[in-house]
Amino acid sequence: MKILVINTGSSSIKYELFDMDHPRVLASGAAEKIGEGAGILTHRRIVTGGKFSKEVEKGPIADHQAGLKRIVALLMDPEHGVVREKSEISAVGHRVVHGGEAFHATVIIDDKVMEAIRQNSHLAPLHNPANLMGIEISKAVFPNAIQVAVFDTAFHQSIPMKAFLYAIPFEMYEKERIRRYGFHGTSHAYVAEKAAIFLDLPLKELNLITIHLGNGASMAALKNGKCVDTSMGMTPLAGLVMGSRSGDVDPALPFFLADHLGMSVKDIDRLLNEESGLKGICGTNDMREVIAKMNSGDERAKIALELYGYRVKKYIGAYFAVLGNLDVLVFTAGVGENSPEIRELCCEGLSRLGIEIDQRRNCNSGNETKEINVPGAEVKILVVPTNEALKIAQETRKVIES
Ligand code: AMP
Repeated sequence: MKILVINTGSSSIKYELFDMDHPRVLASGAAEKIGEGAGILTHRRIVTGGKFSKEVEKGPIADHQAGLKRIVALLMDPEHGVVREKSEISAVGHRVVHGGEAFHATVIIDDKVMEAIRQNSHLAPLHNPANLMGIEISKAVFPNAIQVAVFDTAFHQSIPMKAFLYAIPFEMYEKERIRRYGFHGTSHAYVAEKAAIFLDLPLKELNLITIHLGNGASMAALKNGKCVDTSMGMTPLAGLVMGSRSGDVDPALPFFLADHLGMSVKDIDRLLNEESGLKGICGTNDMREVIAKMNSGDERAKIALELYGYRVKKYIGAYFAVLGNLDVLVFTAGVGENSPEIRELCCEGLSRLGIEIDQRRNCNSGNETKEINVPGAEVKILVVPTNEALKIAQETRKVIES
């Protein structure tokens, strides 16, 4: 069974084609700068020996439909294609950012689902309309494939009211559905499952804290394998210090910025989402550059990293209290998977909680799941490479087979 995973953004389509029977990636890539003058399409396809060859096409991509048609043409190229007929693709799994309270799980897309995604668009105005467009185009291009929606928010729908409700007038929740939703759900779910498999223990018997540290960053507390709290909120701005997002600030900060500095809502939005976090403090949102700057004596980079690690540590403490008992701590995503320094910073001084990193294990390279706690520690600390596209493909398969 072949499943195409699509992530449609306002000016891009990212894709990955999976052969679920073997399981492996057959092709992947992205059409970017759609609708702009200088479009770019990157396409990787499997060649002999499980290696990948890469092609890059430069030139305008008029719109998303043109982009997806070009991707399909590459997938079906008579000489280098990885599928012969469109009908070989049984299903298309779409990443949908905001499912609101309507979706607790992956669903097959029908008109009602489309309408519900549309109704949640005000909660993710930059993402849901693009995701919907991706679905519409995919339905036209693959009329015989089953279309499936996998939501970033669905995994967090098990969070209890005491953790998701904001202490503002209750009508704001009842009428406007203003509450914590949480994001990166496919990643948190994927690494939690992988951790349980690695430890050979049932997920539903484990309490975990999953720490997704990429350009965006979030944490989740899982009790008996189910999410009970997460650091992002109604939007992905809340919680940890991120590449260019502030994470938690005083909720009155926007009023101050408006009243005293005359900033508009748009300016404040840009300040907190695009000019803050690591970038706001030391000028770059790329963690590799921040670490390099710190190593060359840059004081701001040092402060940025201290803030970054301190915030993660505070959330570990909070979630430890929420869970009462912690079995597993999982690091994932670009920073979490690749930076022993940051993992160490986040766990420094937590040995009283049973959280203790083994320095040698922490520095082992390789991109497989690995255990990095000291032998015999109460809490297992794992590094688990995330794979959101694979999780979307797995969910898609599960839902169409059931
Ligand atoms: P992601 O959003 O998951 O792709 O993660 C992107 C972030 O991971 C960027 O800030 C990168 O600088 C960071 N990253 C990738 N590789 C490394 C590494 N070896 N050490 C530190 N950070 C890394």
